[in-house]
Amino acid sequence: MAVTLTQNRRQKMTMQQKKTDNKMPAAPLRRTKILATLGPATDDDHKIRQLISAGANIFRLNFSHGDADDHRLRAKLIRQYADELDATVAILGDLQGPKIRIARFEQDSIVLKEGDLFTLDTQYDKTAGNQQIVGVDYPPLAAQVGPADHLLLDDGRVVLIVDSVEGSAVKCHVSIGGKLSNNKGLNRLGGGLAADALTPKDKQDIKLAAELRCDYVAVSFPGSADDLEQARQLLHNEGCVAGIVAKIERAETVHDLDLLESMIIASDAVMVARGDLGVEIGDAELIGVQKHMILRARQLNRCVITATQMMESMIENPMPTRAEVFDVANAIIDGTDAVMLSAETAAGKHPVAAVEAMARTCIGAEKQVSANDINFQGVLSFDRIDQSIAMAAIYAANHTKSVSAIVCLTESGSTPLWMSRYTSELPIYALSPNHGSCGRMCMMSGVHPHEFRHHEADGDIETCAIKELVNIGKINSGDKVIITHGDVVGQHGGTNTLRIITAS
Ligand code: PGA
Ligand code: MN
Repeated sequence: MAVTLTQNRRQKMTMQQKKTDNKMPAAPLRRTKILATLGPATDDDHKIRQLISAGANIFRLNFSHGDADDHRLRAKLIRQYADELDATVAILGDLQGPKIRIARFEQDSIVLKEGDLFTLDTQYDKTAGNQQIVGVDYPPLAAQVGPADHLLLDDGRVVLIVDSVEGSAVKCHVSIGGKLSNNKGLNRLGGGLAADALTPKDKQDIKLAAELRCDYVAVSFPGSADDLEQARQLLHNEGCVAGIVAKIERAETVHDLDLLESMIIASDAVMVARGDLGVEIGDAELIGVQKHMILRARQLNRCVITATQMMESMIENPMPTRAEVFDVANAIIDGTDAVMLSAETAAGKHPVAAVEAMARTCIGAEKQVSANDINFQGVLSFDRIDQSIAMAAIYAANHTKSVSAIVCLTESGSTPLWMSRYTSELPIYALSPNHGSCGRMCMMSGVHPHEFRHHEADGDIETCAIKELVNIGKINSGDKVIITHGDVVGQHGGTNTLRIITAS
């Protein structure tokens, strides 16, 4: 590892941040992106502002909870605080999807003990669950399960084994007991319970996502690339160009590598949705699946988010466990672009501390990822000129000692995406006049988007871009930087120039 080089650059960057960032607190540059889920715990006390200051890059509006007005208010606050702090942050709208859930209990919850008999019945009164029976909102359940199936409730906290199916009643005994409350999720070990993706509520929420100008929309429980394409089309119909996140949370998806591959390709980012996926395939298998998904997403030029229970103990405690720190770190060492906080921020006692702990952990882990790991992963020739320029820039960045940043002038964000599929210790400052591109680039590891419009009257584009970055404190005059751009401003896919220049 090029330790000296790494340390020098890092110190220099830290100093630059301190010197010039008068609105944001000084923090070392971090490559990995932090996704924070909003919820009741972030609604008061300017919490969203504090989360941005602590380093959140993307906010998840979880359409499974809350109503449209809750999300409207949160989106408004995100934009307001981001403006105040001069921060570029993105919004991800997460569709509820066809998650299968039990109905409600008369007393809101019950406690099941190992060996108890318990029935799930899709015809049973949806509000009258009790110690023996509860309703389910998924009519085909009885037809799709059979004796000896393991049914996992509440992310696997309660496990039932099916004894028999009688009409609409699925009769079980309890294998692992625990508390069971209203509307908890239901999965089958091994997968196979699947309703159509994009429910009527999801289609409604796609309109909401467009209204809120979300930068990303996440599709929950997608079954195929078609589901993702349909979501993209529905968004387009609403005039929204949000990136599509495929939440990989079904056993069927990861057991069919061609299917998984087609879904990665149909998306802009994939989420290793360890909550639902973990209960369907089991934790032991999840380990390899996470590594495979991260690798393939990067190889296929897509972003990847590692999600769920990353700092779970922080729902209650002000500090993560060491095991959680290492889980986050290992996802980063595997190559994830983003790490996600769920209930830790949405419903936890220490949402800001959770983002701070994530940020610290990311920076620690990133020191362990060597830029010189760069390998060309079998890509020996490029069809596109912009792609070869991106690769040349990363190669130059990692092999030219005196250079301190990559500056990438981009319309769509494709060139920084390609650059960021390879690790570099240098920041990639991606300047785009396109607000939507800046939002989508918030997901990319190592890419720091900044909205910037070039005016011919101010001089040539390189000089103006460098001047802007010096003005906002990202680079110092005298720094040597790699700059990439196209001949024609405003043209997608036009990048054809790479120069190494000294900032004046
Ligand atoms: P969720 O998705 O938090 O919306 O369930 C993520 C997961 O299943 O891990
Ligand atoms: Mn899920």
